[in-house]
Parts: sequence; structure tokens; C-alpha cells
Amino acid sequence: MPKADEYKNLPVELTEVVITGNEEISPGVHLIAWTRKHDFIPGQVVKITLDQEVPPRIYSICSGNSEDEIRVLFNVKDEGVLTPRLAGVIPGMKIWASNPYGSFKDGKKPAWWIATGTGIAPFYSMFRSGVFENKTLIHGVRSLNQFYFEDELEWALGDHYIRCCSHGQACNVFPGRVTKYLEEINHIPTDINYYLCGKALMVVEVRDLLISKGVPYENILAEIYF
Ligand SMILES: Cc1cc2nc3c(=O)[nH]c(=O)nc-3n(C[C@H](O)[C@H](O)[C@H](O)COP(=O)(O)OP(=O)(O)OC[C@H]3O[C@@H](n4cnc5c(N)ncnc54)[C@H](O)[C@@H]3O)c2cc1C
Repeated sequence: MPKADEYKNLPVELTEVVITGNEEISPGVHLIAWTRKHDFIPGQVVKITLDQEVPPRIYSICSGNSEDEIRVLFNVKDEGVLTPRLAGVIPGMKIWASNPYGSFKDGKKPAWWIATGTGIAPFYSMFRSGVFENKTLIHGVRSLNQFYFEDELEWALGDHYIRCCSHGQACNVFPGRVTKYLEEINHIPTDINYYLCGKALMVVEVRDLLISKGVPYENILAEIYF
């Protein structure tokens, strides 16, 4: 498992970038954008803040690596320091951002991508960068309006895009959390890689479940949002 603390403590330089877009794609969930100046590997993160006095927070890049913009997807934490203010940025405003960094990346081998909530971001970046052959994406959310980018993902991934919803029901959506889905399916391949992204509790529960089904520890890679 990657050491998330390494990310948090990494002394990265911040430079000013100009916001080019801010879209609320679901209630309390925003996609903000600025012009891309650097190459990045899909799965990498940036640190951002609005004010050099406020310690920057980390966000997975949520756009393709040949697109003109860098985008990040975040949900507003009402009591949070940064996200309530970040939700109010408008095009033309300046924020501080680091260059992309981080080691959460996938290659060509078959893999399952398992995300909850905004944890879909690194996988969507991989998808938008053309990395999706041999991949199965499992996305867990609380309500049906949180399947970000679902039309695009469903069209491209078909049966390899699995939606799990804990508090809403619809056809083609598994009723329950990702852990329930993984418990109920007949076959969990043990010779592929598993990439997990989301909150610590989900990552730990899914990791333990996969290990109990015979997946080697070293086949499980995680990006933990804390
Ligand atoms: C590698 C990595 C990648 C990440 N990528 C993403 C991403 O793509 N999208 C995303 O949405 N998030 C991501 N995160 C999480 C993100 O970095 C922030 O933690 C998140 O957006 C909250 O920031 P904030 O400043 O609004 O909240 P914070 O001020 O950091 O507060 C977070 C929570 O703690 C509570 N809190 C704050 N202060 C106190 C206190 N004194 N006492 C008790 N509770 C308190 C708040 O109520 C809030 O719910 C990532 C984190 C990591 C480590």
C-alpha cells in the first residue's frame, strides 16, 4: 500500500494558476479547472490552496493527460477549511497549485478499479488518458446522482462499469455498498491488480475482503483520501 503520509508531507512548490471553470456536477460536488502547464501520469495528484497561509489540500487529477485543462473533483465539507471557499471560485480567479506528483498509476495489465465517491477521479483521469482496456471499474456511492461521468463510462466500459448505490435503487445499479457487491459475486480473480481509491475505511474493508478471497497483498494498491 502506498504511504499516504509521504504525499501529505511532501514539500511541493505552489504556483499561481488561473481558474477556467467551476461546475457543480452534483449537489455539493464541484469540478474546477485551470490550464495545464505540465505533463502528468494519470493517477497523480496536485496540492491546491486559495491562500498561501492555509496549508494546501491534495486532490487527484480528474482529467486526461492530453487535455488542455487540469481538472479536480471535490465535495464540499461544510466544516472544512478549503472546500467551502474552493466551491466559490469563478473563471479568472487565481488559486495556488503544485505540479502533479504521486505514484498511483496503472499500466496495461488487467485490473479492477474500485472507487467510492470522488475517489473515481484518478480512474476517470486514466480513462480519459486512454488507459481502460482490460479494466473493470466499480464505483460505490450513496445516492444515484453521485455516479459522476456515468454516461461516458457506461458507453465506453459497458459491462465493465459497475455501479453500487447504498441509498438508491435503479436498474443496472447494484443495491448496496461495494463491499457487499464484492462479497456476493461468484468470482474474484486472484491474478490481477486491484486499485482502490476513497476513504480509509472503504480501502481497509475492501483490502481485507480481497485478501480473504485469495488476492495477494502485493496486488492491491491504494490511494487513501483523508
Ligand atoms: C492523496 C489524496 C488525494 C485526495 N484527493 C481528493 C479528491 O480528488 N477529491 C476530494 O474531494 N478530496 C480529496 N482528498 C481529500 C482532500 O485533500 C481534503 O482533505 C478534503 O477536500 C477536505 O478539505 P477541507 O479543507 O475542506 O476540509 P478540512 O478543513 O481538511 O476538514 C476535513 C474534515 O475534518 C473536519 N474538521 C476540520 N477541522 C476539525 C477540527 N478542528 N475538529 C474536528 N473536525 C474537524 C471537517 O468537518 C471536515 O469534515 C484527497 C486526499 C489525499 C490524501
